[in-house]
Amino acid sequence: SITLVSFIAPKSKKMQKLPPNDDIEKKIDSLLNLMTLEEKVGQMVQYNGFWDVTGPSPKGGNAEEKYEHLRKGWVGSMLTVRGTKEVRAVQKIVTEETRLGIPLIIGFDVIHGYKTLSPIPLAEAASWDLEAIKKSAEVAAAEAAASGINWTFAPMVDISRDPRWGRVMEGAGEDPYLGSKIAKARVTGFQGEDLSDPLTVAACAKHFAGYGFAEAGREYNKADIGTVTLHNMVLPPFKASVEAGARTFMTGFNELNGIPVTGNDYLLRDILKKEWGFDGFVISDWASIEEMLTWGYTKDRASTAVRAAEAGVDMDMEGNIYIEELANMVKNGKVKEVIIDDAVRRILRVKFELGLFEDPYKYCDPEREKEVIGKPAHIEAVKDMAKKSIVLLKNENNLLPLKKKKQTIALIGPLADENNSPLGSWRLGSDDNTGVSLKTGLEAYSKNKIEYTKCVELVSNDAQFTKELHINTTDATGIKEAVEIAKNADVVIMALGEHGFMTGEGRSRTNIDLPGLQQQLLEEVYKVNKNIVLVLQNGRPLTINWADKHIPAIVEAWQLGSQSGHAIAEVLYGDYNPSGKLPMTFPRSVGQIPIYYNHKETGRPVDPAPGDEQVFWSHYIDEENTPLYPFGFGLSYTQFNYKNLILTKNEIKKDEKLSLSVQVSNTGDYDGREVVQLYIRDLYGSIIRPVKELKGFELLNLKKGETKTITFEVGPKELGFYNERGEYIVEPGDFKVFIGGSSQTSLEESFSIIE
Ligand code: BGC
Repeated sequence: SITLVSFIAPKSKKMQKLPPNDDIEKKIDSLLNLMTLEEKVGQMVQYNGFWDVTGPSPKGGNAEEKYEHLRKGWVGSMLTVRGTKEVRAVQKIVTEETRLGIPLIIGFDVIHGYKTLSPIPLAEAASWDLEAIKKSAEVAAAEAAASGINWTFAPMVDISRDPRWGRVMEGAGEDPYLGSKIAKARVTGFQGEDLSDPLTVAACAKHFAGYGFAEAGREYNKADIGTVTLHNMVLPPFKASVEAGARTFMTGFNELNGIPVTGNDYLLRDILKKEWGFDGFVISDWASIEEMLTWGYTKDRASTAVRAAEAGVDMDMEGNIYIEELANMVKNGKVKEVIIDDAVRRILRVKFELGLFEDPYKYCDPEREKEVIGKPAHIEAVKDMAKKSIVLLKNENNLLPLKKKKQTIALIGPLADENNSPLGSWRLGSDDNTGVSLKTGLEAYSKNKIEYTKCVELVSNDAQFTKELHINTTDATGIKEAVEIAKNADVVIMALGEHGFMTGEGRSRTNIDLPGLQQQLLEEVYKVNKNIVLVLQNGRPLTINWADKHIPAIVEAWQLGSQSGHAIAEVLYGDYNPSGKLPMTFPRSVGQIPIYYNHKETGRPVDPAPGDEQVFWSHYIDEENTPLYPFGFGLSYTQFNYKNLILTKNEIKKDEKLSLSVQVSNTGDYDGREVVQLYIRDLYGSIIRPVKELKGFELLNLKKGETKTITFEVGPKELGFYNERGEYIVEPGDFKVFIGGSSQTSLEESFSIIE
């Protein structure tokens, strides 16, 4: 009893509304029956929308041709169309001018907020606060959805151990357990309870898989990843995304063990679609289907299209290859139509779930757009997220928090009065220069006298997509002024780090130190005033050995989004006691990379006894093995003390759970918040296990002088691992459990798993 008219979007007001619980699969069956091959392939095509369709004629690139394709019903999706007006214009074309009126799904990179910006994702991860991270995704979704967007290309769940890679700013760091929890928080935050709610968007777990392991941190490079690392380190956050209900996946630009991930049926068909039962759709990365040709993986465009479709890529992002090749290849018998049908079914399913068939303009209400974007609750949420993302790395002599009593502060550095850089990379929906600078934040916060100088430039050009960005200026004359100001100040705040566009796509670095003249500036100022608080704003771990040795207080403030300056000021003055913990190891030197906490032991691990002459143990001759700051590390203005780690049992069976508890006390002078972290070590196994693995964490708010007992449970989900065949197993054996406030934890106990 399903009629054609049920599927047609409202050409006229007479359009029949479908009962909400009508079976989506049946609707898709009948719709597929009505579609021509070209219309089916069209659903698999996504065009970029950097062109204006609201004007007299479409502009830019091959806009005329794209416009024609839209009118023929040969386009299923567009990306980066901005605002309700533009989205309405393209939806109007497809719903009113095409034969079947199938609405578009509109995608956009809503990475850390749409207009109101949250901290960059790596910074958010430093909060370990899943509720706040979920809230931040909800805010981003509400604003994007109010602006016509149905689908965000986020979260990026790529695990990475290489801070040279510019895209670490988009992820949750190096750990698969934390990464999986955050993936779930972000997916559920974006998608909400019900995808048809016009304040939610479909999520996209990307880049499936292995992009974060690009060799040497060099962008778009190959990734060689063994089965054990792939299954235990890389895939878990993707699996968690499917379990959280992520409706779409994106492939990547990389190849994995010799096969481009965009043509990889093992990943896309065997693991994602079969083993994990994913029933949403997979999109390529930008022209990544076409890039299989450049990789030297396919012979020509036609076979490239077939390879991607057969591997399981359901939609071609701005590659023009499906639209040009796929229908012919079906006609020539080179690819089966059932593959096309399956892809189209997946895409239509998500469109139905979003409610686009009921009302393609559902996400295009200009009133809602005005009301939702930038509303006070959103500003509060991103500020809260920003405070929770800050990590205190060092605080000697209690230099922090700053005293509110009258004192002179010298505020120095290229990032001190920046309102663009703190917005970070990947914020295509928001306007430039809309962040609160540190200077503005400090001035709004206290009446302390502030003497400010920028003194050196960090970049010569801060446009997002220029090659010149990394060219640092060489004019050091301003350093003199900084020294003069610093001489007479009670406290010096140095605002140094990376410009917001020094991380992100295409922003790999071989040195991850303070770029440009900043190190020189820091050392000159230090000569005249040692009372320095170094406020770092950066999108990746940095090598700051010198600063760690000399500077008494160091605050990692990342790129914190719209409310950056206010959040930092609150933390510096102690109205928010810092609680962030590093989601990624900070190396001492670039030569240590990849360096990460969940590494393996070697056969020659132990440092030789003093006086022992032998040199054959695992070490560098010019640097320590340990990192500068380990994963999970972060200080507070107060101190936390851990004691009484108690296990309910010392032995469990393979399918049993073990409970453990620990007492945490706030022994310092301030109320505070601690991230209590639980790690395990499987002492021996059929696959050698890492020296430590995070398997639980809890946020604990403790008033000054307060003690709380906290309980964890570990069982088969935490204690097993994937073997070399990618099978999950739990083995009998001996384990250690560690609890504390970082991956270098204080308390430790033992237990065993028995047959
Ligand atoms: C990036 C993706 C992004 C896409 C669309 C690509 O260059 O790798 O992560 O979603 O562009 O903007």
